[in-house]
Amino acid sequence: MFSVKEAQNKILGCSIKIKTADVPILDSLGMVLAEDVISKDNIPVCDNSAMDGYAVRADDIKGADIEHPVSLILLDEDLPAGRVPSLKINPGYCMSIMTGAPIPDSCDAVVMKEDTKKNVSDILVFKECLKGENIRYRGEDIKKKDMVLKKGVRIFPADIGVMASLGKSRVLVNRPPLVGIIPTGDELLEIEKDLEMGRVRDSNSYSLSAQLAEIGIKHIRYGIIKDKKKILRKKISKALSECDILLVSGGVSVGDYDFVKETLIDIGAELVFWRVNQKPGKPLVFLTYRDKFIFGLPGNPVSVMVCFEMYVRPLIMRIMGNKDLFRPAVHARASHDFKNRKGRTSFARVVIKKKDSKYFFTSTGMQGSGILTSMVKADGIAVFPEDAGNIRKGSEVEVFLLKE
Ligand code: AMP
Ligand code: MG
Repeated sequence: MFSVKEAQNKILGCSIKIKTADVPILDSLGMVLAEDVISKDNIPVCDNSAMDGYAVRADDIKGADIEHPVSLILLDEDLPAGRVPSLKINPGYCMSIMTGAPIPDSCDAVVMKEDTKKNVSDILVFKECLKGENIRYRGEDIKKKDMVLKKGVRIFPADIGVMASLGKSRVLVNRPPLVGIIPTGDELLEIEKDLEMGRVRDSNSYSLSAQLAEIGIKHIRYGIIKDKKKILRKKISKALSECDILLVSGGVSVGDYDFVKETLIDIGAELVFWRVNQKPGKPLVFLTYRDKFIFGLPGNPVSVMVCFEMYVRPLIMRIMGNKDLFRPAVHARASHDFKNRKGRTSFARVVIKKKDSKYFFTSTGMQGSGILTSMVKADGIAVFPEDAGNIRKGSEVEVFLLKE
C-alpha cells in the first residue's frame, strides 16, 4: 500500500502532454497563458486629460491662488472624451476638457474644474499647476511592443481587462482537461427523489461537480450507474472516449459489488496504484488509459471530497500548467488533543482560527467518512502524518485552506 506522498508522486509523475487551445478571453479566467501577450498599441494612444477641467499652459497660471486668481479666455471649443482638438492653446487661453479627452497642442497641464470659476467667456483659476499635472501621457500604461503578460502565468480578471484594452479578443491557453463524473452504487437515488429504506441520494457527483467548477473545470455528468459490470463497462468506455480525466465514485473497495477496478482493468486501463495508507479514502485507485487518467474514488462522501483535494485537484492544476498544485497551506497548532491512530496519514476536517499571527485548529466534530457535514463546517484539512499518533494540544501540523 502506498503512502500519501508516494501516491501523490505517482500521480504527478505521470507524463502529461499539455495541450493548448485558442479561446475567447472571457473563457480564459483561471487558465494558464500559453503565449506571451505583446501590445501592438500605445495605451493610452495619446496624451489625455486625467480630470474634468480646463486645458491650460502651466506658465499662464503660475502663482494663482485663492487671493490671486488668474483669468484665462475660454476658447469656443470643448473637448469631451473621444473628440480630437482642432485649436491650440495660445498664451492666456484655455479650453474646457473632460476626462480622457486628447490634450490640445501647446497645452501642458489640466486644471481641475473644482479649482476654477467659470464666467461667460473666461475662467478664474485659483490654483497653479505643475507642467504635466493631470495629464496622462501616451503609452504611460503600456508601450507599443511591451510584453504585457508572460506565457505561463495564471489569468486573473485584470489580465482579461488588459487583453480587452489591447484589442485581443482571443488568447492561447493551456487547455484544461474535460472531466467525466460517474457515481456508482445500487443504493443511489437521484437527488429529487424521496429517501427510502437503505437508499442514499447521490451527493458525490454534486460535490465533485462543484469542486471542479471552483477551479473552472468543465465536466460531464454521466448519471448514476448500478453496480453491474456490463453497464459499468459501457458507461466507462463512453466516458473515456469523451473525457481526459474520469472520476468514478464508489465501488473500489473490497465489497462483493465493488467492480470498478476490475472493470477498468478489463477495458485496458493500467493500474498505477490501489489503496493508500490514509484515512479517509484508503481504497482510492488510480489508473491510466492511453493519455487519460482515471480515479476510482471511495464512495464515502468525505473520502470523495478529500481525495479530490489531495490527488485530483493537484493533477488538474498540473495539466493546466499551474505552478502551485496544492491549496495554500499554513502551519497551525492543535487547540485540543486529537485521538489519532499511528501508522497512517489522517486528514482531519478542522476550523482554523488566527490569534496573534498564529493559526490554531479545532476539530469540526465527528470525523467519520460518511459525515459530510464535517466538510461543510471545515475551513481546512489538517494533515496528521503517518508517524504522528495522537495529536497533543499545541502540536503543529500542516493545514490546507479550503476557503478564502
Ligand atoms: P462504496 O465505496 O461503493 O463501498 O460506498 C461507500 C459508501 O459511500 C456507502 O455508504 C455508499 O452508500 C456511499 N456512497 C457511494 N456513492 C455515493 C454517492 N454518489 N453519494 C453519496 N454517497 C455515496
Ligand atoms: Mg458501492
